[in-house]
Amino acid sequence: MIKENVKRLLAELPDGVELEAACKTRTPEEILEAIDAGVRIIGENYVQEAEKAFKIAGNRVKWHFIGHLQKNKVRKAVRIFDMIETVDSLEITGDIDKACAEENKAMPVLIEVNSGREKQKFGVLPEDVKRIVGKLSGFSKIKVMGLMTMGPMTGDPEDARPYFVETRRIFEKIKAMGIAGAEMRYLSMGMSNSYRVAIEEGANIIRVGTKIFGER
Ligand SMILES: *Cc1c(COP(=O)(O)O)cnc(C)c1O
Repeated sequence: MIKENVKRLLAELPDGVELEAACKTRTPEEILEAIDAGVRIIGENYVQEAEKAFKIAGNRVKWHFIGHLQKNKVRKAVRIFDMIETVDSLEITGDIDKACAEENKAMPVLIEVNSGREKQKFGVLPEDVKRIVGKLSGFSKIKVMGLMTMGPMTGDPEDARPYFVETRRIFEKIKAMGIAGAEMRYLSMGMSNSYRVAIEEGANIIRVGTKIFGER
């Protein structure tokens, strides 16, 4: 099933849009099956889960962190991941930059935008994104490469559209400003039920779990 699901999704994606498999709770075997079927980006919410999968498939794919990064996991995360999509504060950024310097590694990051302004969600409020990007461009190892958003969870993918539109608007605005050290290339939006809408609104990374692996 996993294989067919990946092939169907890949066939559907327009040029320039990348499929990221959101792998929380999946076994390394399931993740390998997705990779064999053509997935090239693995998204992990938990550093500990990522370590297991990384052991068996480390250099075959790119590893993106999409969870909430805790201070005490930064060092491990920096070793494993090729991109951190969920930078949501300046504090954690200082820790990431320091760990990267110690590991002698550059780290592309996306800023997580709390586009739905939800109290229970992590992420930077839309009006603060520009300021954070400006500040991050001063770090030596961190490289801002774009934005990521979740948007509020509802049943209807159309409900997500305004949040994707808003995130795209911020993305384009910052891109046009040409902030030194920030290269606005990636817009990571859309999940199993909303990826089509996200692509229509400019996403070039979609993060899909259920539609690849089945229900959690
Ligand atoms: C779980 C998760 C996804 C994928 O969710 P599905 O609805 O299973 O496709 C995407 N992004 C993040 C950050 C996630 O945690």
